[in-house]
Amino acid sequence: MFAAAPAAHAASSQGDGNFQPGAPGIGDPYFPLEGNGGYDTQHYDLTFSYDPATDRLDGVAKIRAKATQNLSRFDLDLQQLDVSSVTVDGSPADFNRDGQELQITPKHGLHANSAFITTVKYGGVPQTIVGSPIVFGSPYGFLHTDDGAFMGDEPNVASTWFPVSDHPQDKSSYTFRVTVPKGLGVVANGQLMYTRDVGDQSLWVWNEPNPMASYLVTADIGRWLVKQGRTPGGIPEYVAVDPVLPDVTTTRNGTSTKQSALDFFYDYTGEAIDLWSKTFGPYPFDVVGAIADNATYNGQPLGFSLETQTKPVYSAVRSPNTIAHELSHQWFGDSVSVKTWDNIWLNEGFATFAEYLWGEHFGTRSAHDAFLADYSRAATSSFWNLVIADPQRDTMFASAVYRRGGMTLQALREKINDDATFFKILQTWTAEHKYGNGTTAEFTALAEQISGLDLDNFFKVWIYTPGKPTSW
Ligand SMILES: [Zn+2]
Repeated sequence: MFAAAPAAHAASSQGDGNFQPGAPGIGDPYFPLEGNGGYDTQHYDLTFSYDPATDRLDGVAKIRAKATQNLSRFDLDLQQLDVSSVTVDGSPADFNRDGQELQITPKHGLHANSAFITTVKYGGVPQTIVGSPIVFGSPYGFLHTDDGAFMGDEPNVASTWFPVSDHPQDKSSYTFRVTVPKGLGVVANGQLMYTRDVGDQSLWVWNEPNPMASYLVTADIGRWLVKQGRTPGGIPEYVAVDPVLPDVTTTRNGTSTKQSALDFFYDYTGEAIDLWSKTFGPYPFDVVGAIADNATYNGQPLGFSLETQTKPVYSAVRSPNTIAHELSHQWFGDSVSVKTWDNIWLNEGFATFAEYLWGEHFGTRSAHDAFLADYSRAATSSFWNLVIADPQRDTMFASAVYRRGGMTLQALREKINDDATFFKILQTWTAEHKYGNGTTAEFTALAEQISGLDLDNFFKVWIYTPGKPTSW
């Protein structure tokens, strides 16, 4: 190793010695350019119009942030759309595009710890991402629907429709001010503040005051049937469903029930969020709901659901199990987000374990039997080849991350053999990392601390080593 010379007085190319450009990425091993260095965003005020007739989005994004170093320049992430102007604290700023990086040079350097507001005027036709190996080629991001638009951006494509520091380490609150042709509605994260008609347009203003990772942002446009109220447990609920979705028949404990799609999503959203509030700790957000659209790509149905904060999005009618899965992510993924994407099993493994619990609650089978069903895969199956704690970028959404991750938690539960202790681990996890981020190492340390067990070998076998676990 080499020892570097002291750099305390390193000169910058900007003249003022202590101001340096922020890094183009936040330091994620799978996504080196996602997020940005040198500042932390605090609030996004996204004003935009969208017209399904032209597919065009035109917007002004106002982003409040705090510098974490003396900044001569900083980046936002933005793909494809055109930028017409950028200001910082009201003064015109120079900008340059370099791939997905929008490089912004303010007139004056920004001092560490100072707050500043960046305003980006931008527009264009947002392009759906198709063929990316990250999601096995499935279309994702900004989907154009027959009556509007549908956004599901995990892990890296929020930047296809607004300028953003696109990484879960940099959470913010959000306000949406969306203008659409009269007759259409907008459903976004958080709470509807108001809507009003302006000529032949209507404006919809939504607000999510709690910290939100950028991949969980959505503002879906179209015709909606809406049902509002409170869950049986008292959480304010807002469900929006595309009127073309068909009725849903659900069979439970041998009895079939037929409902409208609106009632179906409303009822199961309420039932699941109340169950998880008792299981994983208090619901971390103020409101809950669902956005169920009729989203297709080139006429083909999409199997798309995403745990967008406070209101998961569904591209069609889904099962109660899927609704329960997405709502468990409000704790595991949304409130407690991955610190870096290699920790993705902290989202998907935990949501799969939630499916085990849901199956027990719904009357399908016990969590132990769900574990056995997943575990019954042959030892020779390639399913067992993945290292769950570091699955690699293009297999981060492989079924093993979900199913083996879920098995890991049920195996841990049975090893601890005391539900009070086991669920205390989960509830402490959601409380200690509320609105923040977590890593696998932090979770395994917490599990050891609360259970009093040495779990080194357990986690080594289940999440750090390929191959089917045989003893743990
Ligand atoms: Zn999931």
